[in-house]
Amino acid sequence: MKRVLLLLPAASYRNADFLAAAKKLEVEIIGAADYCHRLAPLWGLSPIQSVPFDQPEVAVQQVLAALGRKPDAVLAVDDTGLELAALLRERLQLPGNSPAAVRLTRDKLAFRRLLQKGGLNCPEFYHLASDAQSAAVRLPLQFPVVVKARRLAASRGVIRADTPRAYVQAVQWVRGIQAKADREAARLGLVVESFIPGREHALEGLLQDGRLHVLALFDKPDPLDGPCFEETLYVTPSRLPQAQQDEIAQTVQRACGLAGLTSGPVHAEMRVNERGTWLLEIAARSIGGLCGRMLRHALGMSLEELILRHALDRPLPQTQHGEASGVMMIPIPGRGIFLGAHNLEAALQVAAISDIQITASPGQIIAPAPEGASYLGFIFARGISPDAVDASLRQAHQRLVFEIQADIPVIQAKA
Ligand code: ADP
Repeated sequence: MKRVLLLLPAASYRNADFLAAAKKLEVEIIGAADYCHRLAPLWGLSPIQSVPFDQPEVAVQQVLAALGRKPDAVLAVDDTGLELAALLRERLQLPGNSPAAVRLTRDKLAFRRLLQKGGLNCPEFYHLASDAQSAAVRLPLQFPVVVKARRLAASRGVIRADTPRAYVQAVQWVRGIQAKADREAARLGLVVESFIPGREHALEGLLQDGRLHVLALFDKPDPLDGPCFEETLYVTPSRLPQAQQDEIAQTVQRACGLAGLTSGPVHAEMRVNERGTWLLEIAARSIGGLCGRMLRHALGMSLEELILRHALDRPLPQTQHGEASGVMMIPIPGRGIFLGAHNLEAALQVAAISDIQITASPGQIIAPAPEGASYLGFIFARGISPDAVDASLRQAHQRLVFEIQADIPVIQAKA
């Protein structure tokens, strides 16, 4: 039986889908998790516990000491475990992307430098060190700009600013978000870059020996013009002309080559305008949240199964591009306490809607981007055309009712 070391973050949406795929493929999973033992029984695993994914050099020793027999592959379920997975593969002499390539693509500043050096389209950018006084430093870019945390995901810590005043506010806000979310915030500082106009797309692919195979190209049909960039709709196949789709794939392929990514899933986000394709990021992982489920029909299996198969050198499916599909990451309307979702049956009645998953739990504190990094849930649709899928997702969303307590009570400490 093949063994896979799987890095399971407590907060991931996808642990269960990876474990289900492993079961189907009769693969033994050794879990390494960033949570304590009390959660472990939920997944029928007793993983290597309390592994600090955000300190990969420390974590690698901990996991290797506890590991036992060498696994056949090491995979991270999502973003947070990517660097650790790459380090473990290196130490265990297993094939896969190098730690340097993974580290580079997780850092928005390093990625910008890479694009610039490689001659790919790249907005003007600027590193704002943590000690720099944002108000005092003359911004060497023209407005509008986008202020970003260095290595957060899901549009967390990303804010557009159109004026000097908005810029100063954005810097303060993003600094606060990064300080809470990244233990190396002070060392990292922020990235400030020119706003790239255009429509946004995403590419889901698989790298095999450095060659990119496109699994899907998505349109993001809603304009994402800020000041915050909460994602909502993804629809595939893309309605872009084929020549533009090819150009996007070539750009992603080139960026993967420059970064040194050669193997496994790749998720890329880009803007497209009259001056071509502008990469926002490439990541050595598959699409986040539960979004990958929309590809199951086209792949004939789950995305997680495909990733496991690739890691274990097993035959891969041919993608069928017949049907349109899409997902809505249900946006969080405002900060508050999530109490519940209603009218699911009515929303499921909408033509082409295939599934709705509410992932927020009652009692959970929720916040939209740029503070939060989660969604209320996911609506899935499959239909005859991208337009039909797009319309159904919006209609289903309109039928859903969310109960959110807007004011979060502040607990005062007794004097
Ligand atoms: P994350 O990894 O958190 O998704 P990104 O750098 O991809 O961070 O930014 C999140 C979103 O913010 C993008 O999907 C895009 O909509 C918007 N965005 C980021 N940078 C720019 C930019 N320079 N110009 C226009 N929009 C941007």
